[in-house]
Formats: sequence, structure tokens, C-alpha cells
Amino acid sequence: MRLDKLLANMGYGSRKEVKQLLKQKAVRVDDVVVKDAAMKVDTEKQIVTVFGEPVEYTEFIYLMMNKPQGVISATEDNRDETVIDLLDPLHQHFEPFPVGRLDKDTEGFLLITNDGQLAHNLLSPKKHVPKTYYADIEGHVTEADIEAFAQGVTLDDGYHTKPGHLVILEAAEQSKIELTIQEGKFHQVKRMFEAVGKKVTYLKRLSMGDLALDESLALGEYRELTSEELELLQ
Ligand code: URA
Repeated sequence: MRLDKLLANMGYGSRKEVKQLLKQKAVRVDDVVVKDAAMKVDTEKQIVTVFGEPVEYTEFIYLMMNKPQGVISATEDNRDETVIDLLDPLHQHFEPFPVGRLDKDTEGFLLITNDGQLAHNLLSPKKHVPKTYYADIEGHVTEADIEAFAQGVTLDDGYHTKPGHLVILEAAEQSKIELTIQEGKFHQVKRMFEAVGKKVTYLKRLSMGDLALDESLALGEYRELTSEELELLQ
């Protein structure tokens, strides 16, 4: 990895600020002063210091965001703000991406990482990682819907879903529910309710696997996962 990228990733400022450090001869690689920002460093083998302090290098970051409505779960978008735009430059340097997608109008738990292997494992249809959502529903959700979801429902494109676990929190003309599903088809929760003649009017993801949203995060806020939380995803 380039020396300036490594230092920027580890919080030593923007690449421009890192250049200043290099100019000041503050940076050494294996005890030799280095001024070349483009120098390639092997983080496994070489020791980088800044003003004599060793730089601990971590390759991966794992962030939990409480995604707000109105932003896109992608790294780039021509029109709208993305979840990556909400990150500090320090975290953006790691070039993370959201693990899976939440719709623009869906809120809640979103994992953002640059660990492709973990993302792949979490999204793999073979792994059946459960995702739990809270939703407000236009329409009276009934026991028959619980039964239908338990059998799987047929979506508008003919796909028959895997069983979903539906819990009714409030059954009225406007209902409140929690739904756990083990797959992630496009607009899946909304389309499952359409299949039983009801409409999702608000959707929030509560958890992925054994990891739940930290409810102390305001919409748009995020934080790094603790090592215990990361364990829950492995
Ligand atoms: N299901 C949906 O319909 N939308 C989401 O954002 C996530 C699951």
C-alpha cells in the first residue's frame, strides 16, 4: 500500500496533510526517514513510525449505521447523497461499501465495511443470514398473513419466497409488525406485503444475523463495531 494512503487511513490527516508530515521528516519506514508519499509499504513486514510512534495498521473497518431515509445504499450516485457521503473522510479513506441494500426510504441497520469476504458471507443465499425489520402497514395484518408468510408467498414476478417469521405488534387498520426473512430480494418486505394485499408505509431494519441496531445511534449516525459485535457476524 502507498505510504500516504496508509497514513491517511490511520488518521494522520488528508493526503495533503500527510505530505506535510513527510516534508517535516516525521515519517520513518524501518527507521529510515521517507519523504516519498508514493512509497509502497508492506504492512506485514515493515514498521512505520510518525514522530517516533509506531503506526498500528488495520486493513478493515466495520461500521454500523442507522441509515436515514433519503440516502442511497451505494458508494456513488449521480443524483442523491449516498451512505458513504455521510462518513468522515477518515472512514472514507478505507473505501468501504454498504453490505447489501436498503431502499432509499428504508431506515435502520446498515453494515458498512471494506471487508469483501465478510460481505460475501453475509449476503450469500447459502448462509441464510436472517434480517429482521419493523414495519408500519396500511391494512389489518392477520393470523392468516402469519401463516402465509410462514409458507412463503409468491411475489409479483412469480418468485416464491422462503418462509418469513411475522410477528404482529399491533393489528388495526394501520398495523405494526416485525418480520424476519432469510433472503434479500429486491424490495422484498414491501413485495411480500403486496402479495397479501397490504402496503408497507414505513420500514426499518432492526438486525442482521445476531447483531442488532444500536438504538442510541441517531438517524445518519454510525460507529465502529466492537470486537464482540464483529464476532457475532463471523
Ligand atoms: N425490503 C424492502 O422492501 N426494502 C428494503 O429496504 C429492505 C427489505
